[in-house]
Amino acid sequence: NKKIGILTSGGDSCGMNAAVRSITRVSLQKGCVPFAIYEGYQGLVDGGEKIKELRWDDVRGYTLSNIRYLAKGGTLIGTARCKEFRTREGRLKACYNLIKNGIDALVVIGGDGSLTGADTFRAEWTGLVDELVSTGKLTKEESAHLRNDLAIVGLVGSIDNDMSSTDITIGAVTSLHRICESVDSLTSTAQSHQRAFVVEVMGRHCGWLALMAAIAVGADCCFLPERPPPFNQEKYGNNWEQEMCDIVAKNRSFGNRKSLVIVCEGAIDKDLNPIKPDQVKKALEKIGLDTRVTTLGHVQRGGSTCAFDRYLATVQGVEAVEAVLRSNRDVPAPMIGMFQNKIVSIPLMEAVKLTQEVATSIAKKDFAHAMQLRDPGFTS
Ligand code: ATP
Repeated sequence: NKKIGILTSGGDSCGMNAAVRSITRVSLQKGCVPFAIYEGYQGLVDGGEKIKELRWDDVRGYTLSNIRYLAKGGTLIGTARCKEFRTREGRLKACYNLIKNGIDALVVIGGDGSLTGADTFRAEWTGLVDELVSTGKLTKEESAHLRNDLAIVGLVGSIDNDMSSTDITIGAVTSLHRICESVDSLTSTAQSHQRAFVVEVMGRHCGWLALMAAIAVGADCCFLPERPPPFNQEKYGNNWEQEMCDIVAKNRSFGNRKSLVIVCEGAIDKDLNPIKPDQVKKALEKIGLDTRVTTLGHVQRGGSTCAFDRYLATVQGVEAVEAVLRSNRDVPAPMIGMFQNKIVSIPLMEAVKLTQEVATSIAKKDFAHAMQLRDPGFTS
């Protein structure tokens, strides 16, 4: 009977609560004992009240936008960025707290940083246990059945959809909905005043949110990190401002009363210089457009979780528990993803490595490779 610790780490994303609920209930159904670890890795390092056994009723309402949870959003067991867990000393404390609670498996819901941390922890596990025993902090009996391995499973909670090897991450679709709703609200005022709006969206070095939002709201133009402008380099050389203004002016000439440009926060030009919303605004003003900048910010993270993210997190939670039960110390820790509409389990560090390769490819200006590494849907 596995004792399974569940934690959410890194930036919060909608659907994390649904994942915690699903892992809890499937664990109980399969005779395992689930534990909530509060405040991400900080809870592992601190132990005590931050590690608590979960019962069936503790996660009641976790997927519902009802009166109890509507205002809360995010993750009800808390998340944090924990510096201490990046050190061996911090991970030694985490190991002690897990063994004291008898926990032998960990499901981590977070981004690539959190999943890398989990993998490092597992690789060090036997050494950490030995050190706790040799320094007298744990007895041999206490550590006996947990000494050999810590099962680790990763679920990707990220609004950015920036993990390679999975088509979609938990929370990305809800954020996309939030962006579309916000841009729809801007559209009516833009049309009334014949204005242009430049909207900056989240995503860091991944343009998925920006690209999908631009398609969904019918933007004139959008700027991403993976595919820097100008798109017609033969005609425009490096002058992306001119290319954008030509597109916007053409759309205006067809009778459009508003203009809309979406900028990913990590957007760059072909020389890897950032493209900032104010630069876009200045260029549009030069062609006579009354232009406003809107940075959507943290509203993109909040609110009620959309149906898809509840579903995705729930089915991935089921697979996470199955993966814990299958786990074997000779097999690399898995990450649960989705590929071509099927839930899949892939070696966690392979996915992390490919994700990190995107940044390297962009730095080398190999944009085609960066697009390929994202995922097949994004590339086309
Ligand atoms: P997001 O995509 O929202 O940034 P993330 O999981 O990538 O999520 P990070 O801030 O990179 O967010 O990581 C969250 C926490 O995971 C860190 O505060 C730290 O405690 C732990 N962590 C990250 N990287 C490592 C690492 N290489 N070794 C050990 N722990 C790590």
